[in-house]
Amino acid sequence: MSKRIVILGGGIGGLVAANRLRKKLAREHEVILVDRKTRHEFNPSFLWVLTGEREVPQICKDLQLLEKKGIQYLNAEVQNIDVTNKQVKTSVKNISYDFLVIALGAELSPQSIPGLSDSGYNLYQLEEIPKLRDFIKGFTSGTLAILVCKLPFKCPAAPYESALLMDYLLREKGLRDKIEIKLFTPEGIPMKVAGLKIGEAVKQMLREREIVFNPNQQLTSIDPKKKEVHFKDKKENFDLLVYVPPHKIPKVLEKTDLLSESGWVGVNPKTLETKFPRVFALGDAVNIKLPSGLPLPKAGVFAHGEAEIVAKNIVAQVNEEEPRHEFEGKGSCFLEIGYGKAAYATGNFYHEPKAQVKMKGPGRIWHWGKVLFEKWWLWHSF
Ligand SMILES: Cc1cc2nc3c(=O)[nH]c(=O)nc-3n(C[C@H](O)[C@H](O)[C@H](O)COP(=O)(O)OP(=O)(O)OC[C@H]3O[C@@H](n4cnc5c(N)ncnc54)[C@H](O)[C@@H]3O)c2cc1C
Repeated sequence: MSKRIVILGGGIGGLVAANRLRKKLAREHEVILVDRKTRHEFNPSFLWVLTGEREVPQICKDLQLLEKKGIQYLNAEVQNIDVTNKQVKTSVKNISYDFLVIALGAELSPQSIPGLSDSGYNLYQLEEIPKLRDFIKGFTSGTLAILVCKLPFKCPAAPYESALLMDYLLREKGLRDKIEIKLFTPEGIPMKVAGLKIGEAVKQMLREREIVFNPNQQLTSIDPKKKEVHFKDKKENFDLLVYVPPHKIPKVLEKTDLLSESGWVGVNPKTLETKFPRVFALGDAVNIKLPSGLPLPKAGVFAHGEAEIVAKNIVAQVNEEEPRHEFEGKGSCFLEIGYGKAAYATGNFYHEPKAQVKMKGPGRIWHWGKVLFEKWWLWHSF
């Protein structure tokens, strides 16, 4: 009997799941992907828009292109998920499913910090990045503050990459001695989940570029008029503010029974199945507690790996076979530093008693590794 698999979200996890399912399942089975956006935005390339190495259209793809592969695409807002009746309510129509894959990511919530939206540039909002790039072109002196508002946030490397890349841009213009760069974060060390050694290596990169690292900062508000960031125990002035906004669970998931005590979707860490059979969740919307007690980082590489496993196990179930594939917590990430170079961290985050991660580089080879991956992604996914 034909089955219908509905995938909510056309970001990294949703696209991998849809493509793998379509490739492996007979055509009698339907694969439907729902997203409120009409285009996929490849987040890992956002910072190349900042450096001017990419323009926005080069890192986006029209989700409608999926139709030619046999993936049905519905441009709609997901409004309700009814796991009892196996129905998804969208702004366009209701859809029933046999298998559901929730890949709705994390919602950005700059409005939850008083004054934030009026004060600077949201590093995680694609539309704002060309504006930030233009502002930097005319920025000749003062303090550039890079602010991580709250934990957790996706891509633990991104604020550090952005600091190193903006440092690079300013050095190239010969303005670095007139501009102070300060980074504020609630983290104790950079990318803590990857271990102390990696954290120290990133701190060293920041030191070498004279970027002032301010850990353990609890943000309370921003005063846009005075250009001040207010933390629990101090105030800091800025001339240019670039921020990683607070993240929250997507609104449509808030009111479901899918959440764990973490406030994010709870799943089996190996199969990504929720407590409801045949309902899977993956990527930034889920919380997976690691042996160290820290959560698995929200990153595309994990959304990708998890989606592969979910797709394989759904295919097995559709074909009435044993779903035996397990996600092993392996992942890697590039850390762009400018000058055509990147570092590369790779490891096993499910390793006990704590994640085992190694960093290579920085070197040109890792920058080119990321370029090749981007090309492959944008070609292969559509
Ligand atoms: C600047 C930046 C750089 C990054 N660099 C890297 C990197 O180098 N490596 C890495 O591994 N990760 C990186 N990431 C993180 C990575 O992009 C995310 O972790 C990844 O995209 C998560 O995938 P996902 O499928 O869970 O969610 P997403 O990719 O966020 O996709 C969620 C989708 O759901 C849709 N959606 C949400 N709610 C609804 C709704 N109610 N109705 C309809 N549609 C909805 C959204 O429109 C979106 O398309 C970076 C992120 C940023 C912002």
